Amino acid sequence: MSTGNKLKDQTVLITGGAGGIGRAASLLFAEQGAILAIIDYDKNSGIELVETINKKGGKSAFFHADVSDAVLLTEAISQAKQWLGRIDNLFNHAGTIIVKPLHETTLDEYDRLMAINTRSAFVTCKTVIPEMVAAGKGNIVITSSINGEKGFSLESVYCMTKGAVLQLARSVSAEYRQYGIRCNAICPGFVETAHGLREIGSLDIQGQTWEADGLASTQVRICKAEEAAAAALFLLSSDASFINGTALYVDNGWSSKG
Ligand code: NAD
Repeated sequence: MSTGNKLKDQTVLITGGAGGIGRAASLLFAEQGAILAIIDYDKNSGIELVETINKKGGKSAFFHADVSDAVLLTEAISQAKQWLGRIDNLFNHAGTIIVKPLHETTLDEYDRLMAINTRSAFVTCKTVIPEMVAAGKGNIVITSSINGEKGFSLESVYCMTKGAVLQLARSVSAEYRQYGIRCNAICPGFVETAHGLREIGSLDIQGQTWEADGLASTQVRICKAEEAAAAALFLLSSDASFINGTALYVDNGWSSKG
């Protein structure tokens, strides 16, 4: 399976690793020699993915959990840790979106999105970091979004969650760099996954025109899942050994455009 050695014999825990960008990252990390524990709530896709990786000679295992449930998530991380032996790298990626006017968003929807996107990142980091501190090393990548720093109509709560995890990445880097831990964020624009396509569809239905011309004027084309996964690989790898607390935009220049 191995076509590179950027993560050779390193262990990686990935949340939301069974679909979309997470799936592309799982395949890419395995190709780069990683031993992978994948947490996801999509059991069928997770099991199919580890079979695919392991058949090709990779080493991966699937652990089922809804990351919004802190108890189940902690249990899955503990099982994953046992299977991996140690956690060298964490890709905290699981997340979803609600596209809705702020004033129509219910408290339950707010709580659910915060639990999936933000609280799960807190729980995952808090569970994994003590062992990294003890080891004196560790790498973390958290998936934020272009929505982490820009405001977007119909995506207020999503923007809140992505701003929060971007700040988590920056704060973890500040707090734990003296223990050899790096923590960075990737901030993709629209990516061609179930999430990205659903987002574009929902925005368009509610009056925006991403499909028609929105992408052309912002990021020129839709990003491929593999391109976002490559950014996560870069940040986890030793190529990024002195990069800590950064927000790596994967948006073809959208965020830097005037
Ligand atoms: P996706 O929907 O294609 O895949 C998400 C994966 O996470 C799936 O495997 C899904 O089963 C899993 N997942 C979702 N909720 C979960 C939960 N509660 N518990 C456990 N697993 C869960 O999405 P994607 O495009 O890979 O996006 C996922 C992440 O990327 C999110 O954090 C999202 O905010 C971020 N992101 C996506 C885009 C985009 O355009 N696709 C852009 C910027 C950021």
